[in-house]
Amino acid sequence: MLDIKITLTENPKPRPDEANLGFGRHFTDHMFVMNYTRGTGWHDPRIVPYGPISMDPAAMVLHYAQETFEGMKAYRRDDGKVQLFRPEANGARMQRSNRRVSMPEIPVDDFVQAVKAIVEVDQDWVPQAKDASLYIRPMCIATQPSVGVSASSTYLFIVLLSPSGSYYPEGVSPVKIFVEDEYVRAIKGGTGEAKTGGNYAASLAGQEKARSLGYSQVMWLDGIHRKYIEEIGTTNVIFKIDGEIITPPLEGTILPGITRDSALHLMRHWGMKVSERNISIDDLVEAHENGTLEEIFAVGTAAVVSPVGELFYKGKVLTINDFKTGEVTQKVYDTLTGIQWGRLKDEFNWIQQV
Ligand SMILES: *Cc1c(COP(=O)(O)O)cnc(C)c1O
Repeated sequence: MLDIKITLTENPKPRPDEANLGFGRHFTDHMFVMNYTRGTGWHDPRIVPYGPISMDPAAMVLHYAQETFEGMKAYRRDDGKVQLFRPEANGARMQRSNRRVSMPEIPVDDFVQAVKAIVEVDQDWVPQAKDASLYIRPMCIATQPSVGVSASSTYLFIVLLSPSGSYYPEGVSPVKIFVEDEYVRAIKGGTGEAKTGGNYAASLAGQEKARSLGYSQVMWLDGIHRKYIEEIGTTNVIFKIDGEIITPPLEGTILPGITRDSALHLMRHWGMKVSERNISIDDLVEAHENGTLEEIFAVGTAAVVSPVGELFYKGKVLTINDFKTGEVTQKVYDTLTGIQWGRLKDEFNWIQQV
């Protein structure tokens, strides 16, 4: 158990308009902070007023991106209570990410305790509006001042909170995706399965290119053959082809999404045939041509589920399911959001009250 010291702000911020929150633009009154020092371990867990942190310009995170982060949400139920979705899964994933970039792990119980504590302090910031939520951003950064390349001896663990609006204010609607065959996101042996900043810096060029061509996101192909499908932007991807649910397997290059895991669990529970196996872009084009490509949807914490209505690959436009949200896509969305916001029974023990 962490002994968390709480210092409340004397200058609460004006609240943003709930009807116009957007994503990740507003931050609450407080943040959780904890230090790590080699030899001592994690120490000084505290909740302090939200604000800038001071760092030496030689802090290692600024030079070599030794950092990890997480993304999760707090949801307000209709009865006003606030709850989290599988927070220990985020804690365990942060441990794996930290190991990959040679950072000390935070015990999962301490991670969950820290998240609950900061959400409790700022619980009034959890939005009431339908499908709006409090986005939670835990992060670990290397702070030792040194420009030699090695693992830092000091770190900060910080948890920020950002009230965010519904991803789909007008209801779930399909997106257009650009299949990227020049840039790649990850290769085996690299850091693709870790939530670490460098992966995202490297992904921006592809994302900018897709946006400039009128697509909302990139579909990444594998780094060796530029052939096997990996992910869409910062979400995992799921296909329904001839009745079978197919998603790329977790073999080191793909971020193991908690939404992915939850969606697969639900679809298996519903008795669907679910396969985690490699699927190539050529298989996808062929399935589209012979009419068996039924649905494509992206899954991640921010949007929960995004139906894909169009793919662009090497000059060719593939329209998926007449640019309509598929039946399974909608059912996964309704069930996950139903459990997350407490409108449906929590059959799988995924919910924790704050
Ligand atoms: C965070 C993330 C996901 C989705 O993970 P969730 O736990 O479902 O939010 C997928 N891909 C990438 C690259 C990510 O960073």
